[in-house]
Amino acid sequence: MARGQNEFTTDPKSKVKIKVINELCISAGTCIIKAPGTFDLDEAGIAYVKDGTWDDALDIIEAAKSCPTTAIIIEDMNGNQIWPAKKE
Ligand code: SF4
Repeated sequence: MARGQNEFTTDPKSKVKIKVINELCISAGTCIIKAPGTFDLDEAGIAYVKDGTWDDALDIIEAAKSCPTTAIIIEDMNGNQIWPAKKE
């Protein structure tokens, strides 16, 4: 399994943690367009989280929001879920 797939990962300079749920990813690729420094597709066409310096946290959240299947989960560094927004 590639980085960030089905487990949270982060970048030292980032303010967020990211997880891609493999079973939900349909290879639509909009996350890569919104945050090309953070996401890429593996050989199977499933999104994973890249090494190195990521995009700005707001761009990462926009990328997660753009995913048609809500396959990207974003948490802050304290483990609070940012996206998808939790219902009250
Ligand atoms: S936008 Fe969602 S479905 Fe498309 S590649 Fe990214 S994680 Fe997968």
